[in-house]
Formats: sequence, C-alpha cells, structure tokens
Amino acid sequence: MTKKWVYLFSEVGEAERLAGSWDGARALLGGKGANLGDMTRLGVPVPPGFTVSTEGCNAYLAAGNEFPEGLWQQELDALRQVEERTGQTFGDPAKPLLISVRSGAKFSMPGMMDTILNVGLNDEVASGLVALTADPRFVYDSYRRLVQMFGSVVLGVPDEVFEAVITGRRKLAGVSVDSELKASDWQEVTRKFKEIIRTYTGEPFPEEPLEQLRLATEAVFSSWNGKRAVDYRNAAGIRHDLGTAVNIQAMVFGNMGDDCATGVAMSRNATTGEKHLEGDFLVNAQGEDVVAGIRATQPLEELAEIMPAAYEEFDAIAQRLERHYRNMQDMEFTVEHGKLWVLQTRDGKRTAQAEVRIAVDMVEEGLIDKQEAVGRVKPEQVDYFLHPQFEVKARKDTPKLAAGLNVSPGAAVGVIAFDADTAESWAKEGRDVIMVRPETKPDDVHGMLAARGILTSSGGRTSHAALVARQFGKPAVVGVAALAIDLDRREMNIGDLTIKEGEVISIDGTLGDVYLGALPTVIPDIDNPFLTKLLSWADEIRTLGVRANADYPADAERARAYGAEGLGLVRTEHMFFQSERLAIVQKMIMAKTPTVRAEALAALLPLQREDFEGLFRAMNGLPVIIRLIDPPLHEFLPPHDDLAGDLAALKMQLQHFHTLEEMDAALGVIRQKQDHLTRVTELREANPMLGTRGVRLGIIIPELTKMQVRAIFEAACAVKREGVEVHPEVMIPLVSHVNELRSQKRALEEEAELVMAEQRMRVDYQFGTMIEVPRAALVADELAAEAAFFSYGTNDLTQTAFGISRDDAEKSFLMYYLEHGILEENPFATIDKAGVGRLIEIGTQLGRSVRSDLEVGICGEHGGDPASIHLCHLYGLDYVSCSPFRVPIARLAAAHAALKYGPQLGAAKGDGAAHGAEPAADDKGVVKA
Ligand code: PEP
Ligand code: MG
Repeated sequence: MTKKWVYLFSEVGEAERLAGSWDGARALLGGKGANLGDMTRLGVPVPPGFTVSTEGCNAYLAAGNEFPEGLWQQELDALRQVEERTGQTFGDPAKPLLISVRSGAKFSMPGMMDTILNVGLNDEVASGLVALTADPRFVYDSYRRLVQMFGSVVLGVPDEVFEAVITGRRKLAGVSVDSELKASDWQEVTRKFKEIIRTYTGEPFPEEPLEQLRLATEAVFSSWNGKRAVDYRNAAGIRHDLGTAVNIQAMVFGNMGDDCATGVAMSRNATTGEKHLEGDFLVNAQGEDVVAGIRATQPLEELAEIMPAAYEEFDAIAQRLERHYRNMQDMEFTVEHGKLWVLQTRDGKRTAQAEVRIAVDMVEEGLIDKQEAVGRVKPEQVDYFLHPQFEVKARKDTPKLAAGLNVSPGAAVGVIAFDADTAESWAKEGRDVIMVRPETKPDDVHGMLAARGILTSSGGRTSHAALVARQFGKPAVVGVAALAIDLDRREMNIGDLTIKEGEVISIDGTLGDVYLGALPTVIPDIDNPFLTKLLSWADEIRTLGVRANADYPADAERARAYGAEGLGLVRTEHMFFQSERLAIVQKMIMAKTPTVRAEALAALLPLQREDFEGLFRAMNGLPVIIRLIDPPLHEFLPPHDDLAGDLAALKMQLQHFHTLEEMDAALGVIRQKQDHLTRVTELREANPMLGTRGVRLGIIIPELTKMQVRAIFEAACAVKREGVEVHPEVMIPLVSHVNELRSQKRALEEEAELVMAEQRMRVDYQFGTMIEVPRAALVADELAAEAAFFSYGTNDLTQTAFGISRDDAEKSFLMYYLEHGILEENPFATIDKAGVGRLIEIGTQLGRSVRSDLEVGICGEHGGDPASIHLCHLYGLDYVSCSPFRVPIARLAAAHAALKYGPQLGAAKGDGAAHGAEPAADDKGVVKA
C-alpha cells in the first residue's frame, strides 16, 4: 500500500492517530492544516479542503523535486471529495470549483510562503462563471489575481511588473483606486499579465486547471528552501528539516458584492493583551487586500453594524476557539453573501506586554494554570519591559513629525535606511538604523532584524511589518499615511519637509509617533501589575535563588525592587575609582612608608564604610556578599605610555616658561608624574590578568584588605544599631591554593573580631571564596574547609579554563570561531557546559563533600543568561547573581528550569544530572578520592 500523503480536513483524527499525538499531527499537517482539520472537527464553518503532508514535501525535495509515488493520485482523489462536498467541479465552466493553495509548516512563518487564490480559472471557466454570477467584474478581478499570484509565486515573475500594468490601467481609466476599475479593465489586465508571463518564462500561462494545481503544489514544496524561508528559520530558530504542508481548500469569496466581506481578527488585543476581539475588515474584497494595506480597512466593530449576524457568529466562534486552544487566536474570515466562513486560526503573535497579560488573565479565567502561564513567557519578553522608552518631557516638548499605528512598543532612534540590505550593512558597521519602507515583505526580514526599529507608510496592525516587529521585539510604527517615500531619490517627504536617507529619526512604537532627530530615552517602569504577578508565580516555582551584582546603594535598591534576594557580588574596587577617591587610592599605592600608607587607608576607611552602610540598608535582612579588592594596582594609576608621553611634553615645555613660579609648578608636576611612572614600571606585568591581583594583593598588602574588612564590620555594626538586619559575607577573590585562603582569612577574621569587640556587638557573618581558576575547582574540598561559601566567577573561570583573554578574545579569533562553527556558543555569554560547567559541578560536589551546608552561587555575567541559569539549576547551586536589570529575567529563567527539570534536589550530589546520560564525575575518574 502506498503511503498516505494527503488528508482531508475531516480526516484530522486519523492524522492524529497515525502521528501519535496532536503535536505529531501538527508536524504532519503543518499548524495551519492541523487547525483547519481541528476547526472542521469542532463544527466551525470551514470551506472544505485537504492537506498534503509535510512528509510529502520532504519526500518531494529528497527525490530531487519529484512527487513520491501515489501523492498526485491522492490529491486528485481528495479533490473529487471536495467537489462532492461543494457540488462544484474543478475546471467545469458550468459549476466551477475554485481552490486556494497555501503553505503551512509546523511553526507559523508569517508571509514566508505566499498563497495562490482562485486556482482553477481559465478563459473558459471565467466565461462560465460570468454566466453563473452575472458579475463579470468580480470574475475578471479574480482571474487577474490568479494570473498575478501564479506568475509571481509559482513562475517567479517580479510582482512589480504586474503592479505597473495595474497602475497604467488606472491612469488610462482615469481612476485612483483599483475598486473603480471595470470588468473590461480587469479582462485587459489579465490578457497583459498572460503576455508578461509568456515573455518572462517563454511558456504560456497554464490554462489547464489540474496543471495549475500541480505546479502550485510544487511551488509550495520548493518554497521551503527559498532564501527568505531559510533566513526566517535561521532568525526564529526553526529547524530546517521539518518541511511544509500544502493546504488546498475550496474558495469562498468576500468580493462578490456588498453582502460580502473579508477580514482578519485577533481574539485579544495583540499589543496590550486586553480581552476583546480586534481586527480589520473590508467589504467586497479579497483577503489579501486586508493584509496588504492597500485599501484603508475598517475596524472590526463596524462589522457588527453592517452584518450583525455574521459578526455575532464570528465573535462566538472566536471565543470558542480560544477556549479550545487555550490561547489567543489570530483568525481569517470571509463573509460570502451573508454566510460566514472561517479560513484560518492560529495562536496569535503578540507583544511581550500582551503575552504577559494574556498569560495572567488566562490563569484568572481558569483556562490555564500558573505553571503554564509562567512557561509561556520567554525570558527575552521580560527583557522587553526593560526596553527604553522616550523621556516623557522630551516627547511632549518635541513636535511630532507624523503618526501611525503603534504596532510594536518601545522607543528606537537611528539613521534612516530605505532598504533591507542598507539597513543590514549599516547595522554591521555598528550604526543604529531605522528601516523605513512603504511596506515590508518577507524579503525584508534580514533588514528588520538588523534595525533598531521599523517605520512604514502603509500597512495595518496585521501587516507583515507589524507581525515580524512584534515577534522580534522591534519597536515599529506602521501605516504612517503622511509619509511619502521616494525610493529612487532615497528620501521621504512629510508635508514640505524632505528627509534624506542617513538622517536620524526617533520612533515610538508604544504610541505610534515619529520624530526628527534623536530623542532621549529612559528605561520604563517595570512595575507592570501583570508582570509582577507572573514573576511572583515564577518565584513560587523556582528553587534557584536570584541575587544581584551591585556596587552602589541605588543599584542595590533597584535590584531589590526587581526581586533580588540579596547581593551576590559587590566589587569594592569600583568605589575606589570614583574621582574624589582616586587621589587617595593613588597616595596609598605610591606610599614609600607604612605611615603614609596608613594615612591613605585611614582616609579611605570612612568612605568605604559609608558605601557599605548604604548597601546594608538597601538589603535589610538579606545577604550581602562583598568582594575584597581584585584588580592589579597599576589599574588605579595612569597608563604607563600616557605618563611617559606627558613627561616628555612637560619637559619640552620647560624651556618656554618665563617665571620661576611657572617653572616650580611645572617641576612639581614632573616630579609627581615621574614618581607615578617609576611605580607603574615597578608594578607593570606582562600578564596582569594572571598577576598580582585578587587574594595575592591582600597577601602582599594586608593593610589594604584589613581596612576593607574593618569598613565592612564597622558599617555592619552601625546599621545594626539602627535596627537593620545585616548578613555580610566577605568574599576573597582569585584563590588557587588553600594556603592563600588560610593566610588571608586568618588575618581578616582577626580584624573582624577586633572590630566587633570594639563595637561590643556581633553580626552574623561568613567568609568565603570565589572560584575563578580551574585549580580552585579541583581542590574545592580543601577550600571548603576554610570557606563557608563559594561563588563561581565564571568570567575569570572561563578565561582561565580556556586560556583565552576575556578582554581580547571577542575582538579577534573568538568571533571567527563563532562564525565558522569552531565554537557553537560564546563561552563568555553562555557557560561552556563541557569544560567550565564541569569545573563548577566538580567544585560544588567536592566542596559539599566536606561542608554539606556550603552556600554556592555564580556571579559572572552568565548569572543573567537563561541557558546558563538552567545549568546552575541542574548543578544544584543555591543562587545566581546578575546585574539588577537581569534579575527579573533570571527569576523567570530559574522557574523555567524548575518546570523543565523538576525542582532541585538540594545540593548537587555529583549524580551527573546536568550531563544527562553522561557518566557522573566519579565514573570519569576526574574527581580525586
Ligand atoms: C568573574 O570573574 O566572573 C567575576 C565575577 O569577577 P570580575 O568580573 O570582577 O573579574
Ligand atoms: Mg573575576
């Protein structure tokens, strides 16, 4: 028996059974085909039709563009069934069946592969249809659409050529819109279109209906490997071996008179998520007219007045489909002589705001549970709430250039690029670009992805530009009617104003406004009540803690407001870099005697203490991990070459001074610079990243870290006295040998105890270490005997594990590695599971083998990366620590990890969980006994 390649919509149950699941049915029939079948099963009025499976597509492509055995015959058989259902016959002028041919892959790829409508028309059928409908205008308009779509989609004739014919015809007829063209005009246009096809392809337009069907089916199959489809899949992370299905369906017409209409609708607002039906429609039009944005559409509410029965039925169906799919639906419908048909439904694309609101609302409506709501929202969508918006005052004070539809929120500023290639190449040069087009097409997606924002002069909320922008979170304003774009002159006009390509504009996708020049932006308030609720559910689900890296009280406050459960890293040296302190730090570094050094440190002490007090107050009740000074000292002095250059210049100037005072002053400066240069030369290292930094510094200059510890404990006691609950955790960086930790910790703990005795107060504290070099991970059991906590500094750990510089690699070979697939991921962005991840696993396991309550976290940049957060969950870490702006994302990603892998079992027990079937640490023999 030959394989089943073709499924009638009414056979969806069989497809589901054969594929083993609904997801399997979607893979087999494509999302669109499966949903058409599903709607048919639900009793929704769907025009009859059938789906050629994705397996058919894959077999066709694998065979070098040959139909597999039985496929074509099955199409013909299915077509017979549709003829029976509709009482019409394909190719029969007396009662013709017309069909549409559409692609439909498992995952929706908006506009990636075009539809062909009215298949089955030819001269003879057209005449028959005129006799049948007495509407020659409708018939010849439909016919020219078939020839046009067939010509461009199947035969590859550029669409502009066809459009030029229509424009010419409008001029000749003295009309401004297509709807004013008459039957004879369309008949003539159709004739011209056929001539064009013959000229371009050397072949006549196929008049034989079955030939049309066959070629259209093949075109859909082949379009799977078309450039724009491949680009889209690359951008959206869709696999390339899924194939597309072909949906063949009886045509219904929204353009057969004023009792006909066609439209698109979302069951909820796709921008805000509010629960009401929203969409656009046109009376007496075909579906493509609505999405193409050529005619001004009417809002869906107006359908309720014009065709109340159809509207009511549609509203009820929309609600039913939502309940059935438990998701917001994006639907297409047609009303043919008052009868409603639903042509398509799918989960609607939406903005991040809408995603969050819909997820939360649907939990409250009882449609989904909290887990599903949390699982639906992607970490990047939370990021979206942190997107810039224009400053309100600037927005109010700047005159608007124009306004359009606010289809994808956020503010974007950039130079205008009028085509996708320019947008892409300018973006590659590092420029912020706003891509401006009359409307966008699938070919434009690469430019849209590269651009900061998108602006179009036509198109609606459901236009290609709007859908793609929303999906990729690009701010977009579309349908700016005031905008006249002249692509040839590379300029656009708004009223009298001419703006050239390369000039800067600002667009506000939240409000739909356009401004000339660059408006200042601000990060929005993240206190969106729906997001707050969703994140609170994420907190209930996750078992991994989330802390923040913050150096200043204001950042700590922000981190806390974003949901941080403490500070995982305070980089104390950042406080030294503040300009008024730098001179004191330099004095300390330059000190030739212990007394001078002590003076400098004494001056720094109150400043550091004040910093810590602020942090403790902000984190009242939560742990605060303070890392002692880490960078090499020369970083606090001017660079060697600058000093040498300054000195040479100053010496040259000496001869031009006239007064002794001038000379004296200059000599003073020269002496100071000379001293700095001498000290910089002494401190200079060929490899400072592997030099005197971290714990090594504290061992060489113990007064420095002692001062820091004194400041920490004096601050802790002071705020505790105010009633603040303090939990300082003192972290020693860059340890590689336990003796380093022992020596430093002994000295520092003595100082801490001394301060507490002086203050007659005890605070709850811990000393711990960072693990930033492979050796530390491998001797983590020895370290854990000294340290109460570990924090993986995955920036340095990646640098030292790979032996690649975190400062230079991304400027040079690492990018080459990534582009050429030598490395799949940037290890500085996502934890390298096999190497760095393994070190984290080993270190954690060893550490906990001697101290079961060892607190373990990470504080490198990876702490805010969702994929790395999943690994940390699997490694059984206690927390991740990341920048305040990543905290909400980390909370959600940690919840996703718990949903995906189950809650953490507590401590990582070296069961190799993160490595799946890979042997556990012990089996590999890596871990020492
Ligand atoms: C790290 O190395 O990962 C770390 C957090 O420390 P820093 O980035 O300050 O070196
Ligand atoms: Mg580090």
